[in-house]
This record gives sequence, C-alpha cells and structure tokens, in this order.
Amino acid sequence: TRSIRPLVAGNWKMNGVKADLAIAAEAAKGYDAALKAAVDLAICPPATMLYPMTAALIGSRIATGGQDCSTQAAGAFTGEIAAAMLADAGASFAIVGHSERRTLHGETNATVKAKAQAAQTALLVPIICVGETRDEREAGKALAVVKKQLRGSIPEGATAATLVVAYEPVWAIGTGLTPTAADVAEMHEAIRADLSRLLGKAAAAGVRLLYGGSVKPSNAVELMNVAHVDGALVGGASLKAEDFLAIVRACA
Ligand code: PEP
Repeated sequence: TRSIRPLVAGNWKMNGVKADLAIAAEAAKGYDAALKAAVDLAICPPATMLYPMTAALIGSRIATGGQDCSTQAAGAFTGEIAAAMLADAGASFAIVGHSERRTLHGETNATVKAKAQAAQTALLVPIICVGETRDEREAGKALAVVKKQLRGSIPEGATAATLVVAYEPVWAIGTGLTPTAADVAEMHEAIRADLSRLLGKAAAAGVRLLYGGSVKPSNAVELMNVAHVDGALVGGASLKAEDFLAIVRACA
C-alpha cells in the first residue's frame, strides 16, 4: 500500500492537434472509479490544446498541464507563455526543466527554479524534471548531478501540495532503455533525502517523486512498485490511451 497518492502525467511533447482530443477522451473513458480512487492523472498537451482539452475533460477528473512556462509574468517576450496563461487555459500543472528544454533551449537550474516559482505564483504545481546523462551515469556521477539539479531548481518553501519532482535519466527518455529497479530505488531514496534537507522532513515526505524515461506497459509494474516512486511521467506511451491506462493501472 502506498502512503502517497500517485500521479501519472502524460507529456505529449510537440504532438497533438484537435483530432487527438479523442486520445484524451479514450483515456477518460478508461479512468474508472477504481482507478480514480487510487491514482491522479494529468495530460500535458501542447499549449494550443490546453483549453480544448481541459474543456473536453470536464467531469473526468483528469487534470491538464503545460510543458513549460515563462519565468516572466507578462510583457515583451515574443513566443513565451506565462504560467497564468496556462492556468487561464485550464492547466493545473506545468512541467519545468524537462531535459529537452535544458538541452535544446539551454535552461539552467536557475532558469528552471524561476519557472517553477512562476508556476507556483500562478497556482500551478510545477513538475520539476531532473536526471543525469549517460556519460554522467557511466562516470558514477548520477547521484551528484541530480543532487545539484535539485539544490539549484527547487523553490524554497515548496510543499507536498505545491511541488512534484520527476526523475528522468536523460539516456532513458525516448530510447526504450530504463535503469534497473535497484538504480531507480537508489536515486529516488536519495532524492527524498535531499528534499528533506531542502524543504524539511514533513514537506519532503509527501512530495510526489515520479519516474520518467521509456515507461511502457511492459515495464510499468516493476518501475511503479519501487520504493519512493509515486507515479510516472510518460512521453511516448501517453499518446496511446490503452498504453497510458495500463501504466495508470500499474500504480493502483
Ligand atoms: C518524457 O519526455 O518525459 C519521457 C519520459 O519520454 P518517454 O516516455 O517517451 O521516454
């Protein structure tokens, strides 16, 4: 039995147009009373789909989230989307610091922290992503790298209600590769301990720690039953309602 109610969040990345609302509708159909009693669900579509998806999911108890937000509240920042705009479009969450943002858009820990704070100001729950590269793991530096990311990107004063952390080893994202259950256990235990130092034991004990990186129906039961794994951040498999639901069932 779990002491923390798990969360499964789908990250659609840059995939999804209006016709794909059918995927969300199918997920909602399969999110039955037993699953609702056990697991929280969120879908993070492209920003253009947040408003229609949130509307389509009314009554389903599936939340929505953005995939990023600006550090800024408003103004001359062409192309950026403020956290308050995501909230206005219906979002409850915002993924921040995804490895694709850190790598392709040069986001530093300080940027990620500012984005997480902007999300919290807009009453969104940031899902802060951390994770080591393959070189860093092979060099035995995975724990140190993640610890540094946590110290640099978690807002002070965050609580279980205002923060979700996702451990996503960069080398496992979209590759089909996953760490062993023992490696995930070691990392999630270390993250919980670091959060205790950063936020205090009581707050840290309730923060949801998601695992992300090639989660699919065939490995979900094993990964979701690792200690201190309180759900999943799911990329590719979240685009198939059937696979997404199988992962949700693995958390129940
Ligand atoms: C992700 O991008 O957050 C992710 C976990 O992707 P995938 O499940 O496709 O590895």
